[in-house]
Amino acid sequence: MIIVTRPNVTDAEIDHIRERIEAAGMRTHLSRGERRTIIGCIGDESLLQEVPLRSLPGVESVTPVLKPYKLASREFVADRTVVRVGGRAEASFGGPSVTVIAGPCSVENREMILETACLVRDAGATMLRGGAFKPRTSPYAFQGMGAEGLRLLAEVRGATGLPVVTEVMDTRQVDLVAEHADMLQVGARNMQNFPLLAELGRVRRPILLKRGLSATIKELLMAAEYIMANGNHEVVLCERGIRTYETATRNTLDIAAIPVLKRETHLPVIVDPSHAGGDAALVAPLAFAAIAAGADGLIIEVHPDPECALSDGDQSLAPEAFADLMSRLEAFAAAAGRTISSAHDASRAVA
Ligand code: PEP
Ligand code: MN
Repeated sequence: MIIVTRPNVTDAEIDHIRERIEAAGMRTHLSRGERRTIIGCIGDESLLQEVPLRSLPGVESVTPVLKPYKLASREFVADRTVVRVGGRAEASFGGPSVTVIAGPCSVENREMILETACLVRDAGATMLRGGAFKPRTSPYAFQGMGAEGLRLLAEVRGATGLPVVTEVMDTRQVDLVAEHADMLQVGARNMQNFPLLAELGRVRRPILLKRGLSATIKELLMAAEYIMANGNHEVVLCERGIRTYETATRNTLDIAAIPVLKRETHLPVIVDPSHAGGDAALVAPLAFAAIAAGADGLIIEVHPDPECALSDGDQSLAPEAFADLMSRLEAFAAAAGRTISSAHDASRAVA
């Protein structure tokens, strides 16, 4: 149930409405927007049957939520959510500008992660990615540097000022990853790892939730709902391609998912053109299409020497190709009514 309050509602009236709902056994979620305040009710709606909600002072309208996701739903929150990452909010998602995260698939050693961070920053990225715990299809493939990789990411954040995002695969790794990273990534293979999602609800770090290989948009939103229902509302969704019958690309980028998600949820939506296409040559056109379709950001794999990458070399951009993509991105952002966020914008937003 969603209660929209009158424009002149008082705090006392809001408190009274919430008390009546909570006394009936439901939870409430208050969202104050620029123009309206919404009180969302969470729980079994039949409990509210006997409460005369429409007659309470300050209530303008009462609407049932028919969608299974509530906290993630667009109707539940007055304004779009802007997720800020990093203690000084160096990067943000869902505001007027588009944010680019770039870096290697995996952290391989100190020199390469530092070199990659500097080159992606110089080309205009405002966040660094890099896997320390890697979900590999083969148990014989490189599994990531683990805890040492996390330590290197934190060191490189200190050296470059770029906030870092890295994957967490298991509930037992959550505290360690949260200690080192500014944003925690849930990979496609773990999108429905419900104990992990619940644990991430208790963490005070934004979450980058990637769409599962065969997940519907509704399932992606229900996964976000798990994190939010457990207390963490800072969730960024990521379309990274889904598995279809097409074999010409690693996955099929679901471009329509971007406007559909923007209609259904207030959460920011970004796109991973690297894992979608699985081919460095496809990264730029897919990135441009994503921005044209309304994405709030991109996450792109970049390697100083893709030929020698320990994972995902085929889809990783070489430094020059990444710089070229960044220089061409501006025009697509402008066509979509956006700008590309720069480190300068982010620090100004905080000041
Ligand atoms: C990754 O970001 O390196 C990764 C493994 O992505 P996904 O979970 O989307 O496959
Ligand atoms: Mn990868």
